[in-house]
Amino acid sequence: MKIAFLDRDGTIIEDYEDEKWREIEKPVFLKGAIEALKIIKQKGYEIIIVTNQYLINERIITLDQYKKINQRFLNYLKANNIKVLDVFFCPHSKEEKCDCFKPKPGLIKQALEKYPNIDLSNSFIVGDSKSDVKLGKHFNLLCFGINVNNEGCINVESLKEIVKYI
Ligand SMILES: [Mg+2]
Ligand SMILES: [Zn+2]
Repeated sequence: MKIAFLDRDGTIIEDYEDEKWREIEKPVFLKGAIEALKIIKQKGYEIIIVTNQYLINERIITLDQYKKINQRFLNYLKANNIKVLDVFFCPHSKEEKCDCFKPKPGLIKQALEKYPNIDLSNSFIVGDSKSDVKLGKHFNLLCFGINVNNEGCINVESLKEIVKYI
């Protein structure tokens, strides 16, 4: 099974300053994101979201708020006939030194444990942070950085732009 490991905030939906997330109730999809996800699926990739949600344990948003936004995110995709295989999130604050805060490998390790048939050599990762591209490098994944320069990764301007490479 080949996987598109996708960051969520700033990659598929709008991201905000930490404090601003307090008042966010629903996701705002970035231009071209839905179309890109449809093409990714058409090309035979399953979608796994890997997202740092340290705002939960830093008490800026509640776990419940995260879950509501995530459900709305998935519902909107479902309404567009885009099935997401799974979502793995890190709720830990930066101080907790967990193993899943990207670029730590934990979120992808969790995915590999749950889905042993993942073929990393035919998978890829997309994100808008250095932590995303570093995570990709850790697993030697084909890697796309949205407006983030990092050696060994393809720099793109949006999720939509990656479809020409896959
Ligand atoms: Mg991001
Ligand atoms: Zn974590």
